[in-house]
Amino acid sequence: SSKKGNITILGAGESGVGAAILAKKLGYRVFVSDKGAIAEHYAEELKKRGIEFESGQHDEARILKSKLVVKSPGIPETAPLIKKLREREKEIISEIEFGFLHQSGTIVAITGSNGKTTVTSLTHHILKNAGLDVGLGGNIGKSFARMVAEDPHEYYVLEVSSFQLDDCYKFAPHISIITNITPDHLDRYDNKMENYVASKFRIIQAQKRDNHFIYCGDDMETIKGLGRFKIKPHAHAFSLEHKVDDGAYYDTEKEQIVLTIDLESMNIDELALQGKHNTYNSMAAGMASRLLQIRKETIRESLSDFDALEHRLEPVMEIHGIEFINDSKATNVNSTYYALESMKKQVVWIVGGVDKGNDYSQLTPLVSEHVKAIVCLGENVQKIHDEFESEVELITDVKSMQDAVQAAYRFADKGDVVLLSPACASFDLFENYEDRGRQFKDEVRAL
Ligand code: ADP
Repeated sequence: SSKKGNITILGAGESGVGAAILAKKLGYRVFVSDKGAIAEHYAEELKKRGIEFESGQHDEARILKSKLVVKSPGIPETAPLIKKLREREKEIISEIEFGFLHQSGTIVAITGSNGKTTVTSLTHHILKNAGLDVGLGGNIGKSFARMVAEDPHEYYVLEVSSFQLDDCYKFAPHISIITNITPDHLDRYDNKMENYVASKFRIIQAQKRDNHFIYCGDDMETIKGLGRFKIKPHAHAFSLEHKVDDGAYYDTEKEQIVLTIDLESMNIDELALQGKHNTYNSMAAGMASRLLQIRKETIRESLSDFDALEHRLEPVMEIHGIEFINDSKATNVNSTYYALESMKKQVVWIVGGVDKGNDYSQLTPLVSEHVKAIVCLGENVQKIHDEFESEVELITDVKSMQDAVQAAYRFADKGDVVLLSPACASFDLFENYEDRGRQFKDEVRAL
């Protein structure tokens, strides 16, 4: 028997397995239940540690007896088992909350619709260069609970999704960041934008007065949220549109970003990650680091020597003066907007996949300015065709990444860019966005 009692972990992905390992270590009697299949390596991990689990079903009678439930982010509120647990007022928390309750590190937590991984990785890079004992994880890489159990650190930089925040209550990062809020995943929020925004703002709900909150001062939904939610921590904006007193802004005359905390400034062409969206990302990461007392020189160096992340405006190679860029991670219209916006050359644009309710009209000015031809790839391309047909040359009859890359190459001339930035999910032709990006790179290399 165990002193801590029974705990059920729902879902056996990285998050659930991490929570299970931590729960076992804490002395709970652990049961892991996944309605789908469990990946071989995760099943092995659970077995090795003597953790009981089931797959392909939920043993409801058993689960309803547990004292505490940790729910993985992929499971929606509408799942029948979740409804039953709620009816019985069982305590349900997310793995991030569970991890948080069992550690004492200094946490920087990053959420937002776009730019989470970039800001998380940049911040981690700066803190690491500063010599801190810092872990990177959450929604990317290792789950937070796993790090707490197996690989604890003094500092954690965590990417957190809105689904992970939905079951957080006491999670109080030292520094929280909301990169921006644009429509995404609305199907999980009753198709109500205000619910999705509220979910993002849960990142500040338990923060104390001496904590910090960093946000984009140019983001309409975030600004509206500031009026709607009680903000306890110190709030700091970053902006490219106006000067701010306590945060970061862009000095248009000097073409420098300024961190007002010590009036440190940096030329934007020194930043490793180019494009307007990445200037925002660099400001957010720079501010978080400054608030942790990292030396300005370290921040400056780190923001200028950071390597591009795979699948995010990642340069692949140049062939006969044609540059190929992989932005497969652009799975919504907003992220593609920034990709097109950052292009300095004429673009042959590969776009399409599974449409999540996209509105392409906001891209039209960018398309007429930067794009010379469009190659549509994937399931839902009719809307793309109808939106841009009158703007540029456009083809829709490609069936594979190989076709798409070859077609794009035919359209491109010396000095052009071929950009894969799909604005769509990848599940029609690919396993995930990584698979889509790798296939793109393989086909480019095969040209
Ligand atoms: P996330 O982790 O939130 O999905 P990433 O950092 O992986 O975000 O970037 C995903 C895509 O979004 C990239 O392809 C990039 O072009 C775009 N992007 C990155 N940062 C921003 C930003 N601050 N605003 C808008 N789009 C962005």
